[in-house]
Amino acid sequence: MTVTRFAPSPTGFLHIGGARTALFSWLYAKGRGGRFLLRIEDTDRERSTEAAVDAIFEGMAWLGLAGDNPEPIYQTQRLGRYAEVIARMLAQGTAYHCYASKQELDQLRAEQQARKEKPRYDGRWRPEAGKILPAPPQGVKPVVRFKSPDEGRVVLKDLIKGEIVFDARELDDLIIARSDGTPTYNFCVVVDDMDMGITHVIRGDDHVNNTPRQIQILQALGAAPPAYAHVSMILGGDGAKLSKRHGALGVMEYRTMGFMPEAMLNYLVRLGWSHGDQELFTRQEMIEKFDFDHVSASPARFDMEKAYWVNHQYLKVTDPALIAPEFEWHLRRIGVDPDNGPALIAVIEQQRERCRTLAEMADKSRFFYEELSGYNDRDAARHLTPKSAPVLAALIETLGTSDWQPEALHDAVHGVAETLGLKLGDVAQPIRVAVAGMAVSPPIDHTLALLGRVRALARLQAAALKAGS
Ligand code: GLU
Repeated sequence: MTVTRFAPSPTGFLHIGGARTALFSWLYAKGRGGRFLLRIEDTDRERSTEAAVDAIFEGMAWLGLAGDNPEPIYQTQRLGRYAEVIARMLAQGTAYHCYASKQELDQLRAEQQARKEKPRYDGRWRPEAGKILPAPPQGVKPVVRFKSPDEGRVVLKDLIKGEIVFDARELDDLIIARSDGTPTYNFCVVVDDMDMGITHVIRGDDHVNNTPRQIQILQALGAAPPAYAHVSMILGGDGAKLSKRHGALGVMEYRTMGFMPEAMLNYLVRLGWSHGDQELFTRQEMIEKFDFDHVSASPARFDMEKAYWVNHQYLKVTDPALIAPEFEWHLRRIGVDPDNGPALIAVIEQQRERCRTLAEMADKSRFFYEELSGYNDRDAARHLTPKSAPVLAALIETLGTSDWQPEALHDAVHGVAETLGLKLGDVAQPIRVAVAGMAVSPPIDHTLALLGRVRALARLQAAALKAGS
């Protein structure tokens, strides 16, 4: 069975790159009837925070990327297990104690640099057949090093990058436990991947250079290494490393900006993966079609305009009932009470053609739920003039007796235009400013229908007063 994992270090929120890695892992598992597991790599206690763990869960939950393990795995809860594996490796001779002091190692590095060599541990405490090691110095707590094979090659058959070959002589003996006994990063990853039965490690390509060591340690433990897929980084539209100035980086910021989670997934999956020239995918289609053969080995470019486009496509076609909870979140965020006005679904149906984001939709729909705080100055100056006063008066009269349904309202508005010999716009725009406070709104018949008779007429009356004054 395919088992993948997402293993964030909780040092900040869930950012775009992490979310894409999580999505790829999730899709790969789901598309193969496999499992997707969550692991929190929190052994770096200086940098890991509870708040970051929560922020990562929040982002994952919003995107609908749940782990299949009932509880995520926390590395800090597995210290006993790591100690056990280290003890086993020491006993088997695949790891050894190293007593070299910091000063000695600094000196070694300085000498190597002076000779223009790559700094590496020289194996001074590495046990070898026939080699006599010095007596351990008194009072020094040793680190534990992995005794890495010093000949041969490590072949990484990366599912995205292709084959990468490392010369074993390049890989020195990695510290797997510090002198205080705490295990190091690469070692924990290896033990976890082994214990969790991970078949496919999918992660950012900043980890490529960790991989040969991880493979060697797995082999030393008698475990078959998983397959690896190292995903290229995401660049900004200008080709520079993605940073804050290219737009929001945290997934939840995209929520605030008004993205639908499904649209976000769709946008993220296309950052590096393609399926012919198809741009829009349902979650199910992504699951069915995602593979690593079509993930690019070169960096993806972030394109905010495209993200907006994808979001708009989703807003236009998604069942409004599925949009409604997210829309409600946006209304509440800007202090609008969604219960104080028309059904959200009906508003979404009218607004979605004209809004690229839910934040925009919420802002443009305020007037359905709140009393107007005033009129847009420019629009009022244009449309609430003495000339429009009789138009508004005629409307109030006609609408007063109209059935309050879009069709009847449509006929009533057209009737007034005809009677007064005006173009439809000359009637519709004053109505818009009157009821919405601005000259943009959904079609006027629907806008009036959604607002309801009482609210609409009261606003028309207030506007008629202003226009006549
Ligand atoms: N914790 C690592 C990170 O957040 C990921 C390690 C891995 O996936 O192996 O970059």
